[in-house]
Amino acid sequence: EMFGQLTSGLESAWNKLKGEEILTKENIVEPMRDIRRALLEADVSLPVVRRFIQSVSEQAVGVGVTRGVKPDQQLVKIVSEELVKLMGGEVSELSFAKSGPTVILLAGLQGVGKTTVSAKLAVYLKKQGKSCMLIAGDVYRPAAIDQLLILGKQVDVPVYSMGTDVKPAEIARKGLLEAKKKNVDVVIMDTAGRLQIDKDMMDELKEVKRELNPTEVLLVVDAMTGQEAAALVTTFNLEIGITGAILTKLDGDSRGGAALSVKEVSGKPIKLVGRGERMEDLEPFYPDRMAGRILGMGDVLSFVEKAQEVMRQEDAEDIQKKIMSAKFDFNDFLKQTRAVAQMGSMSRVLGMIPGMGKVTPAQIREAEKSLKIMEGMIEAMTPEEREKPELLAESPARRKRVAQDSGKTEQQVNQLVAQLFQMRVRMKNLMGVMEGGSVPALSN
Ligand code: GDP
Repeated sequence: EMFGQLTSGLESAWNKLKGEEILTKENIVEPMRDIRRALLEADVSLPVVRRFIQSVSEQAVGVGVTRGVKPDQQLVKIVSEELVKLMGGEVSELSFAKSGPTVILLAGLQGVGKTTVSAKLAVYLKKQGKSCMLIAGDVYRPAAIDQLLILGKQVDVPVYSMGTDVKPAEIARKGLLEAKKKNVDVVIMDTAGRLQIDKDMMDELKEVKRELNPTEVLLVVDAMTGQEAAALVTTFNLEIGITGAILTKLDGDSRGGAALSVKEVSGKPIKLVGRGERMEDLEPFYPDRMAGRILGMGDVLSFVEKAQEVMRQEDAEDIQKKIMSAKFDFNDFLKQTRAVAQMGSMSRVLGMIPGMGKVTPAQIREAEKSLKIMEGMIEAMTPEEREKPELLAESPARRKRVAQDSGKTEQQVNQLVAQLFQMRVRMKNLMGVMEGGSVPALSN
């Protein structure tokens, strides 16, 4: 699971407060030590951890007692808010030029996923109705230019290339002219990476930047490199001036250090994140959702958003409303699971559902099978039962009937009913964190 180690490290902090009545200077010492350790193990930079711990401690001691809210829940709430703040608070949108083409210059070390990001970004912007053109500026690796040409063809976006014998700044100048001639909305320039930072790379980037006068200069960094990513963002910003970062490979075993350190260390926001090798796997960086994931509650909002892409809009909004009010019923359950089935990439979507972590192909097949089973059972329910799952919860006879009609065991029906109520609670809790309202239950 993404950031799994961090999540379980934090969990041990909450557990130490079980049974306490209020948060005190004394009883937060141990939990704060756990939080500190979890953040350091996640490779968050030390000064960031220090400030974080100090701020959370101060708030925790001063928080006072709220009826019905347990101390561990209060601490989760404070940590959640502080995590969101750490990651920049609000989502940081891409800027667009007021007139003429918007120019996005991509920089980054070799292998971080820059070429892939160029094409992904074009796909992302095309979905917003913008026409794009890619410029191939990685003149030191012919393979990189070929790769960009192939990706461009694959996603149906023109690629401007002059081969490897022309200087990147010249390619940039000509490419931009071409884009203006063609009235392209957004120009994305891929540049050469090096294995490490060197003066030639920086000088070249400066020249390219002068030619392009870009709206966005985005540094692509690999989430697997942890706090090193934050250091890179700082360096590139000081050297060439950047507007933000794109964090790639967040689907891998990254520990969280990069996501949590970049903004605080460099002052520059993470604007987008790459979460897979498919061309669709690029999305905005939402600090609140990331905090939700780190706290181990999955990414229900991203899930709902993905589902929206394949569901009719009004259905999706309806479901969202129901989640907010915890009225989520079996009809919604069915709609969502069907939408999920249509989405193809089960593994990603399952990863977003609370309690479901990283999944293997065998688990995906298993999950698809269990979706089928669930569908069968829901179809055997009466319309009334689907709308009011309480009816089934209260009546063993009804559950027995559903089991018989769907050819499943009573135990399977019991499980399905329990699952729906669990989902309600978890979704409701997650919304609580997001809305700053009630506090999540801590048990999984
Ligand atoms: P460049 O040298 O910076 O241009 O890097 P590439 O775009 O060639 O990517 C290097 C490798 O990382 C390729 O195998 C990509 O498929 C892979 N990659 C890029 N972004 C992601 C991501 O978000 N997730 C995963 N899992 N792999 C990625």
